[in-house]
Amino acid sequence: MRVRALAKINLGLDVLRKREDGYHEVRMVMQTIQMYDVINLYKTSRPGIWLRTNLPYIPTDERNLVYKAAELLMREFHIRGGLRIDLQKFIPVSAGLAGGSSDAAATLVAVNRMFHLHLSKKELMKRGLSIGADVPYCVMRGTALAEGIGEKLTPLPPAPGCFVLVGKPAVNVSTKQAYESLHLEKIARHPDIHSLVQGIQAQDLAAMIPHMENVFEPGITREDPVIGQIRELMLEKGALHAMMSGSGPTVFGLFDSWAAIQRAANALRESQMARTVFATRFFNNKGKR
Ligand code: ATP
Repeated sequence: MRVRALAKINLGLDVLRKREDGYHEVRMVMQTIQMYDVINLYKTSRPGIWLRTNLPYIPTDERNLVYKAAELLMREFHIRGGLRIDLQKFIPVSAGLAGGSSDAAATLVAVNRMFHLHLSKKELMKRGLSIGADVPYCVMRGTALAEGIGEKLTPLPPAPGCFVLVGKPAVNVSTKQAYESLHLEKIARHPDIHSLVQGIQAQDLAAMIPHMENVFEPGITREDPVIGQIRELMLEKGALHAMMSGSGPTVFGLFDSWAAIQRAANALRESQMARTVFATRFFNNKGKR
């Protein structure tokens, strides 16, 4: 079986507070984009999980979220036999694009289908949460408001369609590190996620744009100024808006035409500020998986 694991960007991201258990309470607008990893799964008669990937620096054992997802369902349903899994990564790693979480979600969906487990989307989302806070959203996909630690999901109408330019600089930011350098008590103004959601509900991109903000962006940009430089370049080249996704360092820009996005993509490649430059669109599954 072959499945695609789609990346997400955050149209808005706020961190509200640190809970007593150490997790942070967030309010974010998630949007799936058409940038994806490909996962091929093959049944084997020999029990066990054999994972291979095209990137030498990510683990292929139980530390990989694909492995965790497959193991979770195989254990619970006492699946005899094994799985050989080939993970082709195209989504940049540690980039704020939820690549690992999406791989886990796609693996849950694939194993459910391959072994006829008949779990509903909701049941897969529940199991996904034990792997990571963003996994339930990655099972759901589309445009959504995520609250709690990211697991309380409210589906939103598809955000107004536009073209998305993804630029990932060579620097890596771990999510843990990003939270550690976020000093909530010092943040004077938080993104207005409520108004952003209203803009989406009104299907009004112009009303959304002033509220498309990421609470991590000022701090991470101070540490890695290239993030701000990529953002400025996208704006100069005609982006309607540009900002950082997740805990960074990926920057994305929204454009209203394919010609404009191609010009910006070429300029970004020439600048050599981004290691990955990718032009794509939003993905809206309209309820289908
Ligand atoms: P998020 O947007 O959820 O913060 P991210 O883009 O920061 O995600 P990922 O690329 O999902 O980060 O994962 C980064 C870390 O997870 C790396 O340390 C990597 O070794 C580990 N990892 C485990 N499984 C995977 C996977 N399938 N793909 C990528 N990284 C994985």
